[in-house]
Amino acid sequence: LVATLDERIAVLRAQGIHSVLATFTDLLGAPKGKLVPLEGLEAAVATGAGFSGPSIAGTGLPRMGARSEYMGRVRPESLRLLPFMPGVAHAVCDGFAGGEPLDTCPRQVLRRQVERLKAERGWTLWVGIEPEFFLLQRDAQGGWRVADGEDRLDKPSYDLQAIGRNFGFLDGMRQALTTLGFELQQMDHEDASGQYEINYRHDDALAAADRYQLFKLTAQAVARQHGLVFSTMPKPLAHAPGSGLHFHLSLTDAQGRPVMADPAGVLGLSETGHRFAAGLLHHADALSALCAPTVNSYRRLAASRSASGTTWSPVWKAIGDNNRTCLVRGVAGRIEWRLPDPSCNVYVALAATLAAGLSGIDQALPAVSPCEDDLYERHAVGDALPARLPRDLLSALDALAADEALREAVGTAFCAQFLALKHDEWAAWSRHVSDWEMQRYADAP
Ligand code: GLU
Ligand code: MG
Ligand code: MG
Repeated sequence: LVATLDERIAVLRAQGIHSVLATFTDLLGAPKGKLVPLEGLEAAVATGAGFSGPSIAGTGLPRMGARSEYMGRVRPESLRLLPFMPGVAHAVCDGFAGGEPLDTCPRQVLRRQVERLKAERGWTLWVGIEPEFFLLQRDAQGGWRVADGEDRLDKPSYDLQAIGRNFGFLDGMRQALTTLGFELQQMDHEDASGQYEINYRHDDALAAADRYQLFKLTAQAVARQHGLVFSTMPKPLAHAPGSGLHFHLSLTDAQGRPVMADPAGVLGLSETGHRFAAGLLHHADALSALCAPTVNSYRRLAASRSASGTTWSPVWKAIGDNNRTCLVRGVAGRIEWRLPDPSCNVYVALAATLAAGLSGIDQALPAVSPCEDDLYERHAVGDALPARLPRDLLSALDALAADEALREAVGTAFCAQFLALKHDEWAAWSRHVSDWEMQRYADAP
């Protein structure tokens, strides 16, 4: 039974809702939006809530004229009561400009991909997103530290004391996420001090991306209530593991049958599943730009077996069974894609991942043989290794610029905006003189 908009508005009013938080995601992945009185909801659905297009990172919209306005059209089915903003309902918008879907809007980028998947093959992509994150605090000097105090060097995975110290935050998340309709699966303390992971049920790709953005907004709000900062920075601690944002991917056909699973196949994957995985490995360099899109991302993509914990982040292009040293894992008929980190724009990372996987299917790429070794071990003892992921953001950007097929699939207009913004970011970083350089070179003999 689908409620009409009038019925939805009546229900919201009866629930004491006076405003709608009309949200969208900018190119860098940040949730943005504005508060609209409930009376304005009808117009926000029909024509959209208006934003100044050129003020939003990466829209590419002109400074003046009819197309300068970014219109966020509210999707009525996305309305949810926000537990941390009383009287406010959250809504997800699709970006439009000049009356047309905007091809630089990240949600439109993903929408186009999943609609094409449905129209051309009758398939649906299902995604379980695994958020890892740090809880940070500012110290008296304005510096940053992890919420658990000092950077402990013993291995804090599954630390119950850390669950105890930040139980207020975790229980606040449980309450808020449950109210928002998330089906929670587990929460734990991860491998680094102050690092946590919260898991919830998978969804179709667009809903999963919407949900992750709402997860992020919720975590920011709940952390704030506890004097903490929810951090999506991939690698805040130099000597401890960083945060990933793994995607668990599966495809179903028009009859709802799994396309990539085969219990009898190698790694539990069908031939199509292996081709999809091969597509991911084939485009991995360019995908790095979109899935690991910050200067800091490349500090995470390092192998370490230090006392503070194994990093478990991907470094080499390999597929494995239950092998967390690989870039792709075959798990129970699904593909775990370990490249993304939480600094990515989840809509775009998903759209690009899907495009790369489908290109592997279309080109009938041969299955990549599973890696049965601990790659960190091979690295440590100097054995031969599979090809490596890009070492820094600039190399990843170069790979994206060179991968025309992927750029075309994701959207050339979007990629052009993305590359321009990210080259600025790289240039800003390159100009920066760090503390490390001062310590090392300032009074060098
Ligand atoms: N934190 C690791 C990463 O950076 C992943 C750890 C895990 O497998 O849960 O991807
Ligand atoms: Mg994890
Ligand atoms: Mg995982």
